[in-house]
Amino acid sequence: MRAIILERQGEPLKLTTLPEPAPAPGQLKLKIGACGVCRTDLHLRDSEIPATKLPITLGHQIVGRTDDGRRFGVPWLGWTDGTCRFCTTGRENLCPSARFTGRDFDGGYAEYTVADERYCFELPDELTDEQAAPLLCGGLIGYRSLKLAGDAPRLGLYGFGSAAHMICQAAAHQGREVYAFTRPGDRRTQAFAKQLGARWAGGSDERPPELLDAAIIFASAGELVPAALKILDRDGTVVCAGIHMTDIPAFPYDDLYDEKKIRSVANLTRQDGHEWLALAREAQIRTSITKYPLDNAEQALADLRSGAFEGSAVIVP
Ligand SMILES: [Zn+2]
Ligand SMILES: [Zn+2]
Repeated sequence: MRAIILERQGEPLKLTTLPEPAPAPGQLKLKIGACGVCRTDLHLRDSEIPATKLPITLGHQIVGRTDDGRRFGVPWLGWTDGTCRFCTTGRENLCPSARFTGRDFDGGYAEYTVADERYCFELPDELTDEQAAPLLCGGLIGYRSLKLAGDAPRLGLYGFGSAAHMICQAAAHQGREVYAFTRPGDRRTQAFAKQLGARWAGGSDERPPELLDAAIIFASAGELVPAALKILDRDGTVVCAGIHMTDIPAFPYDDLYDEKKIRSVANLTRQDGHEWLALAREAQIRTSITKYPLDNAEQALADLRSGAFEGSAVIVP
C-alpha cells in the first residue's frame, strides 16, 4: 500500500510503499477514506513533542471501512491498560500506559490501517468521510476542553483553526456567547468565526466588549495564557487544549486572583467521544475542509503551520 512516513523528526514526510497491515485479534483492518490533519502531527514532524516510534505513519483522525462495509472512526486514544487507578475511575485519558494512534501505532496517512475495535467510534451518517474526519481529534478534544470550561456563558476561543471552528458551532448551539481570538489583523479568520456563530471576533491582542467566563486556548503560544487571564471575569477558567505550548511568561498574581483557574486537557476518553459525536449530530456541526492527496501530506502540514486554510485539512488517499 502507499503510505506516508516520518523517518526522522524535523525532516519532510516521505511517500513510500509498505505491506498492508494485518489485524491482530480484536483489531479491525480498515481501508482509509480520509484522515484529518492535527496540530499534533505538525508537532511530531517539527520535533516539538518527542516521537516514540520512528519511522511512523502520522494521522489519528481516521475514517475507514471494513471489508464488509462498516464505517468507523479511529481517534488518538488507541489503547489503555484498563486496570490502572486512572482507567478504573473514568480517566482513561490519563492512563500512564496509554498508546496513541499515529504516534505509538502507525496512523492514517496511508491506504490501510488496523485499530483496536474497542477504541473506534461509529460516525454520523450525514457526514462524508472527509467531513467526519476532523471530528475525531480537533472536535473531540475540543469538546473535552469545552466540558472542562464549565458552564461559562461567555466563552473565548484563542486560535481559530480546526478545533475552534467546530467548538464555536457547538458552543453557539448550547446558547453560549462565543468570542473568537485570531492572530492580530487576521480579518479573514475573524469573518469565518462570525459566520460560524461567534458573537465577536478580534485579534489576540484585543479586549472583547465583555469580561468572559472561560477561554480555551487552541494555539500553542504560551503568552496567550496571561493574555486570556486578563480578559476573564472572577472565577473564570483558562483551558489549554494543546499537547504542546511554548513557555508561559511570568505574570502578576493579581491576574490569577479572584479564584481564576488555569488547566490543561490531555487526550480523550471514549465517553467524551460518544458524547461529542451525539452533540455533533444534534448541533449539525459542519466542517470546512481542505483536501490534500496522500503524496501532498507534507504540504498539508506546511499549510497548517502557516495558517493557509480555514477550518480543517484532510488527507485523502
Ligand atoms: Zn490505565
Ligand atoms: Zn490530534
